[in-house]
Amino acid sequence: MQDPSTLRGASTNTRKAMRIVAIACIVGASACNRASATQSGTPAPGNGAAARTPGVTTPATTSPVTANASVRAADTIPTGTAAQAETLLVDVQALDRTIAVDMRYRNANNFTGAPLPGYQGNHALMRREAAQALARVQASLRSQGLGLKVWDAYRPVRATLAMVAWTVRVHRENLVIDGYIADRSKHNLGVAIDLTLVRLVTRQELDMGTPHDEFSSAAHTANATGAVTANRAILVQAMAAQKFANYDQEWWHFSFDVANPMRFDTIVR
Ligand SMILES: [Zn+2]
Repeated sequence: MQDPSTLRGASTNTRKAMRIVAIACIVGASACNRASATQSGTPAPGNGAAARTPGVTTPATTSPVTANASVRAADTIPTGTAAQAETLLVDVQALDRTIAVDMRYRNANNFTGAPLPGYQGNHALMRREAAQALARVQASLRSQGLGLKVWDAYRPVRATLAMVAWTVRVHRENLVIDGYIADRSKHNLGVAIDLTLVRLVTRQELDMGTPHDEFSSAAHTANATGAVTANRAILVQAMAAQKFANYDQEWWHFSFDVANPMRFDTIVR
């Protein structure tokens, strides 16, 4: 999952909505660490919060931040225009129609139980270089009778903001802090993808041990046995051969480097 985008890019209404919610962890990546998340009672330096009493929720001034900076899209990445998104993002099925696509955030079949803003059509968009690499992965799996099934690819910034707001509403901010949901996502750049393996003909999913968006250590790629280990290895190796890096906390999440990353908020239609 991964990645929120900058609040600076959020609408005024969104910022207001995010300010009024109560959250346990208040600051930036450097200070908002697991110690504060476990309610040590000592405010992180510089956050301006009053000392907290364990078990008492402190009114929030901002949203949770992913502690591990390596899984966040950098703050310095520029926001692209709609015209740039139109030029740079391509539908992976335009390159290979046999890639299965079931965009989970376009309807209620996801961890929030509701469609996320910014998703309308069932289309997996990626930066062209990444989409071309993904088509090569699909081709490489064909001889084994396997293919890819995509659950998420390019994700509009507004959808990331909605995910973070959801964690606040349900008091699960640690999903952001611990890196299961990134507050600045590489999905917003069109370079990250969530996917699994299917039988090419039947589209039956292989056993990967957990569903998509399982927020626990069971989703950690190396935390598997038997057939699940083997199936995850097939996916990771096929993706790695085309320069997709797996996120070790989520067997389904991969990212690809491009020369000029930009975040986008264009709606998937
Ligand atoms: Zn992901």
